Amino acid sequence: MQDIDELTLRLERGTDEDETPLAQRLVGLCSKLSGWQWCIHGDTQEFRKRVVKWLVKKQKYVLAKRYALCGKGDLLLRHDATKVVRVKPMGCGARFCPRCSRRAGRKHLSRVASHLSASSHGSIWHMVLTQPGLQKETIQATRVRFENAWKRFYPVLRKAGLQSALATYHVKPSTKYGWHYHCHLVAEFPEGVDEETLYQGLNERWRTVVSKDVSHLDYKDLFMRHVCDAGPALEGMKDNTQLDFWSESQDQVETLLHYVIRDVLQGIESWVACMEREQDCFDFCEFMGAAKRHRTYGKWRLKVKGDDTEAKADAEERALSEATREKNKAKGDIEWSALSTVDSCLRDSRSGSIESSEALKQLIGCTNRSKGVLFRLRKLTTWLAA
Ligand SMILES: [Zn+2]
Repeated sequence: MQDIDELTLRLERGTDEDETPLAQRLVGLCSKLSGWQWCIHGDTQEFRKRVVKWLVKKQKYVLAKRYALCGKGDLLLRHDATKVVRVKPMGCGARFCPRCSRRAGRKHLSRVASHLSASSHGSIWHMVLTQPGLQKETIQATRVRFENAWKRFYPVLRKAGLQSALATYHVKPSTKYGWHYHCHLVAEFPEGVDEETLYQGLNERWRTVVSKDVSHLDYKDLFMRHVCDAGPALEGMKDNTQLDFWSESQDQVETLLHYVIRDVLQGIESWVACMEREQDCFDFCEFMGAAKRHRTYGKWRLKVKGDDTEAKADAEERALSEATREKNKAKGDIEWSALSTVDSCLRDSRSGSIESSEALKQLIGCTNRSKGVLFRLRKLTTWLAA
């Protein structure tokens, strides 16, 4: 580690010009995957090593180190009164990080949740708008083409009654043509819209707007699924905005909505796990660093007045300085105490620490239905216990 810092300093001062030794050490650092890092990043190590190389080439040495270490400093916190356990991420914050890209969606989840919990809602739909791919098209050109189609399509959605929406873009190299690009929409429409008419109209329009200027087309129909009917405010939505670990809600509608929104807000893990060409990884990072992945429309664009959900989520993310923590403690409002890093908790639990095992058991008691962080944590703890 000292080596890495010294090499960084020499490069920054201009004493050294060759970046290779630093790149090699940072890639080595990235290769030493801890148990917890595997849980949060999944099987994306090849991609992450390439990103580290790319960052060094772009002279972003400090970020390269943070990226390689992302998750190693994550803390396990326990609530003083309720004994509930949660993870405090010490992430790198990069948009092209498998874990941090997931967390970036949290603000949007808070925003939508705050609207749904503040007042009654219309009927909610999940849609996927897929753009046909074009051979040899760059990722930037793919985006421009999509934006042009969207500009023509959005007024049609408004005309059909769209009240609010959350849009999230997904992008990955296509095996057939250039880049696969699609947009997930969680959309709110007035009660009683006729499904058949709505679908027919929107699907036809989408086909038209993505076909403009393109002769060769591999059109994929609009995907549209009804999530829930219009209904009263969903009060429990707000308390459940963690993306990796959360407890099952009592209300079925809330649970369903959480699943849908969570799915839509997924990070980049599954797209990069199978990215084969190095140049694709570089283009992807360049693109992700500059593009906004989530957008809100209509009512959901604005914050709910007087609601502190987002502020709270932000505060939970922020790393408190020692001084602030001491001050809070003196005021008597420290609620969460750090037990240890998640990695040392995993180690301690393996060597028989009851406190660590109990803390992990609590995390594992959260809700999950598929692969992902919790799924891997379960696998890891089972393996550690064997
Ligand atoms: Zn990260």
